[in-house]
Formats: sequence, C-alpha cells, structure tokens
Amino acid sequence: MTPGATPPPFPHDEPVHVVPGVVRVTAANPGVMTGPGTNTYLVGTEDVAVIDPGPDDAAHLAAVVAAGAGRIRWILVTHTHPDHAPGAAALARATGAVRMGFASRDQFAAEATLADGDVVPVPGAPLRAVHTPGHASNHLCYLADLGAGASPRRVLFTGDHVMDGSTVVISPPDGDLDAYLASLERVLRLDPPADALAPGHGSLITDPPGALRAILDHRRARTAKVQDALARRGRATVAELLPDAYDDVDAARHPIAARSLWAHLRSLARGGQVGTSDVDDPDATWWVVGRDVAG
Ligand SMILES: [Zn+2]
Repeated sequence: MTPGATPPPFPHDEPVHVVPGVVRVTAANPGVMTGPGTNTYLVGTEDVAVIDPGPDDAAHLAAVVAAGAGRIRWILVTHTHPDHAPGAAALARATGAVRMGFASRDQFAAEATLADGDVVPVPGAPLRAVHTPGHASNHLCYLADLGAGASPRRVLFTGDHVMDGSTVVISPPDGDLDAYLASLERVLRLDPPADALAPGHGSLITDPPGALRAILDHRRARTAKVQDALARRGRATVAELLPDAYDDVDAARHPIAARSLWAHLRSLARGGQVGTSDVDDPDATWWVVGRDVAG
C-alpha cells in the first residue's frame, strides 16, 4: 500500500473477489489475534475448495455457502486453531464437502489427511499442500496454480504462517520458533515461487519475498533484543524480561508477547546461548551461558 492510501475494507460475511478464481469471505471475529477477522477463501470456478472455514458462526458459514453456490467440494484447514477450523463440521453438513487437513486435532475431524506435497485437484486451480510448522506444528500452506494466463499465477494461502499487518504469535510447546523460521525460509525458496500470499488475516500480499524477508529480519531483531535484555539482568524470568524485550509493543499485547518471548528463549537455549531451570516451564528462570552471574 502506498503511504496515505485508504486501507482496503474488510466487510464481514460478504464475498470479496481477491483475484480471478479466488473469493474471500471475512468472518466477524476481529480482534488482537485476528486483525480484521479470519479470512475464509473459496478457490476455483467450477468445483470449489474452501480454505479455513473459520469459527463455527452460522452467519459466516451461510455467507460461505452462498458464495460457493453449490460448488463446494473440499474444506481445507491451514491449522486447527479456533479461529480457523471449527466451522468445518457445519460447513461439511451444509455442503457434503470432504474435510482435509494435516491431521485430526482440536475437534477438527479430518476425513482425509494431507502431507507435504499432496495436491487437491481443484479444476483450474490445483492446490499443493506445503507443510509449514512453527505457528502450529500441524500448519499447512496451500499453493494454488491459477494457470498460465493468470496474474498472479501462483497464490500461496498462508493461514497464520504469514499474516498481513501483524506479527504471528509463536506459543510453545506446539509453536516453535526454529521451525517457524525454517518454514519462512522454505516459503521464500519455493520453486516455482508464489507470486502473492493470501493470509488468514488481512490483505493479499503482492511482494512475497519482501514480506518474508521483513518477517525474518523482525524475528532476528527480536532475538537480539531478548539476548540484550537477558544480558543486562544476567538471570531473569519471562515476566521480568517482557517490558525490556517488547518495549516497542503495546502493553495490552504483552500477555500474548510473553508466549513468543518464551519461544525465543527456548530457541536460544537449544542453541546453547542461554541456560534455564526448565525449558518447558513458562515461569522458569533463564540466564546467559558463559557469564559469571554469581551474586
Ligand atoms: Zn488465525
């Protein structure tokens, strides 16, 4: 977006044509974690795949069914978090479509599971699953090939792996920072590359390499900030480090940021740069390895 431009509107429960063959219906669940709301995408012009039915919200699912106009054959989830997957059961009842995802979990029942590289044969828009653990261990992105004449041709539906306008929360133990960074690098190196990213929250991203590098840079800068904050104290808990390591983040978001801070510390402990009383305890004490912190 150019500076000063009006942000795109996110009407709730109304179909928005994103690119030819891709319709977005945003759920009415805006919030700190969900931005303007969860994006449900309909992909295809004949038989249609729904990506992320969203919450189990009757008005939202009715809008998705209406947008599908009797053509919904597949229901795919990027992951099983409560803002993405719970609508799957009711949508399946309404459409007869098959529910697919990485695995059954969190009340999401997969009738068919998808592994990295599996392709859902949506006519004119085949969708390839790309396993992208990090935000959630069961996270899949889906790469649509909309055909040689389409621009953008390849759209990657990123769920919560990449969000537009906000930082993804990494909440251990299912969330894992090292896995997340590796999955970002993986998407950066997709061959052929994605021409656009369609996130689970926010607008279409038309510069995938720029967006992915910005996220990687942001995470590396945060790691440095966490290390600096810990070095100043020598020994500290997540609660003690939070005001320093996240001084650029609104205090209202600190309870969420605490989860990501824990993820950063776990990553540093894995790399041997910090020690801890218990890597699996969110209230553990952490210290810089190789420093004399006596007294
Ligand atoms: Zn989400």
